[in-house]
Formats: sequence, structure tokens, C-alpha cells
Amino acid sequence: MPKILTVGEILVELVATTKGDGFRDAQPFFGPFPSGAPAIFVDQVGKIGGAAAIIGRVGDDDFGHLNIDRLARDDVDISGIEIAPGEVTGCAFVRYREDGSRAFLFTMHQSATAMLSVTPSGAALMESCDHLHIMGTALAAPGMADTALEALRRVKARGGTLSFDPNLRPELIDTPGMRDRLDKILAQTDIFMPSGRELFLFSNDKTEAHAVTDLLARGIREIVLKRGAQGASFFSSEERFDVGPVPVEEVDPTGAGDSFGGVYVALRLAGSRPADALHRANAAGALAVTRLGPMEGTSTNAEIDDFLKKQKALS
Ligand code: ADP
Repeated sequence: MPKILTVGEILVELVATTKGDGFRDAQPFFGPFPSGAPAIFVDQVGKIGGAAAIIGRVGDDDFGHLNIDRLARDDVDISGIEIAPGEVTGCAFVRYREDGSRAFLFTMHQSATAMLSVTPSGAALMESCDHLHIMGTALAAPGMADTALEALRRVKARGGTLSFDPNLRPELIDTPGMRDRLDKILAQTDIFMPSGRELFLFSNDKTEAHAVTDLLARGIREIVLKRGAQGASFFSSEERFDVGPVPVEEVDPTGAGDSFGGVYVALRLAGSRPADALHRANAAGALAVTRLGPMEGTSTNAEIDDFLKKQKALS
């Protein structure tokens, strides 16, 4: 089974129970929930039986161990997680605004993950995994970004492949050096997985069709466009098709794209056809939004089967 590696932030998330803009009057919070986009992605891969590993760095504190225990329970290889004594695990605070958009406050740059570097156990994973999945948030701190780029160099040198989810938070896009890193990653991407307007991040084309054609011409093999409650679309030079939407009651959309991505990438690497992988990823994304807490949204194969069966019965 091809082994999938990701690199980046492992955090806890605290979700404000009241809606509004900013955090001054946001209390009380739900949480802590295990989180960090790469951690959620890899948890989802492990949960459906894929071989998965993460390179990350946490403090020797309850927030770090909460994540490590969860990932280990879901069969993720945690040998690449460095525990830094005397440092703290990063936090993401999330608050929903009245219009449904989200405000984030990250302590990522002040936490253990910011000082991520290539350790011997991380290097061993880079030399043994077949596929790398990079998320834009992991490029927001120099330590994480350098480690991700080193993983990319080593995995590609051995003939491995890359999937890339820009996962851009407005709070992180202006980080110094971010644009260069994003361009470097895109140039080596095999599977590009943007959400909504992220499709236009690397293309000056105004229409979706033109942006897709431009990206495919640059050597990207497949594009999976996530469309939130509207489902998702697949594009390659041979075929283009849509899935969804799946009607569900949305409780917490954070992490939907990571669960979606984990299922899609794991199934494609296991040899599934794009249509089958997209169908199950779409179900996993829909299931994820029905649960509070970003990593609580990941699903087992049995849960996805059950959900698809119920959807079919309703249609
Ligand atoms: P991201 O979290 O990366 O921004 P999206 O919000 O587009 O990604 O969600 C990823 C996928 O999850 C969507 O393409 C869709 O398959 C599913 N999804 C997200 N929100 C909903 C929703 N409200 N109802 C049904 N499916 C959803």
C-alpha cells in the first residue's frame, strides 16, 4: 500500500459558542479539539485504512498528547512527531460570524510547530513514503515550510507524487515568503485540490474553465475543486465531471476539506478511479460538517458506507 506523508501544524482548536466578529467577547468556547489541517487530513487517511504518517512538532503538554493519542488510535504513523519539552502546542481559536464566514486567531508562530525542522525520524519518513500532501497553512512558518520543501525534494527524488491543498486562511496569506513557497509547490503538484476561489490563486484567467485549462497545461495531472455545500468537481485533460451536493445539516464546516482530501488522496493512491474517489470524498466532506470539532469530522469506511446508503434511500 503506498504510504502518504504530510508535514505541518498539529494544533488544538477552540470554537467560540457565540457568533460575532473578533474574539474579545467570544467566550465561552467548546474544546479543546485535536486539529491542524495536515493532522486532520492524515487522521482521515488512517481512519479509512490508508498508510499515513505526519511530520510535526508539539509541546510536551496535554494539547500535544491529545493529538498524538488520537492520531495513534486512528492508525497514523506518529514516529515523525517531535515532542518539545518546555514548549507549548499551538492553538487555533475559531469564531463564526453572522454571515457564516469564520474568524481565526492562531498561536502557531509562537508554539512548538513553528520550530519544526528535519529530525532523523522525519528524514526516515521522507525516505520511505510514496506520496506527499502539502497544505498551505503548513507553509506559514519558516521551519514548517523548509521541512515541507525538504520532504518534497526527497519524495520527488524517489519518484513519488504530490497533492497540494492551498487551504489558505486570510490570516496567514501575508506571511513573508508565502507567495514564493506556494509557487514552488504548485510547480511540482500532481493533484491540485483548491477550494472555491483558491482555483484562481495561480492563474490570471477570469473564468473557471480558462483557469483549469491553464493549470492542466502547466503539468498538473488532476484538479479537484471543492465547492462547499455545492459538492465538488474533477478536471483532467481527459475528463471533467461534478458530484453533489449532498444535503446535510451544517454544524461546523472547519475540517471538511481536510476529511474530503484524506479520502480522495488515499483512494486515488490505492487505485480507485477519480469518479469513485470523488464520490466517497464528497460524502466524507458532507459528514464532516455535521460534527462539531475539526478532527471529529473524520469518518471510517463503515460510516461513509452507511451515509451513502441512507442518501441513496432518500433519493
Ligand atoms: P475547505 O474546507 O477546504 O474550504 P469545502 O468547504 O469546499 O473545503 O468542503 C470540502 C468538501 O466537503 C466539499 O467539496 C463538499 O464535498 C463537502 N462539503 C462541505 N460543506 C458541505 C455542506 N454544507 N454540505 C454538504 N457537503 C459539504
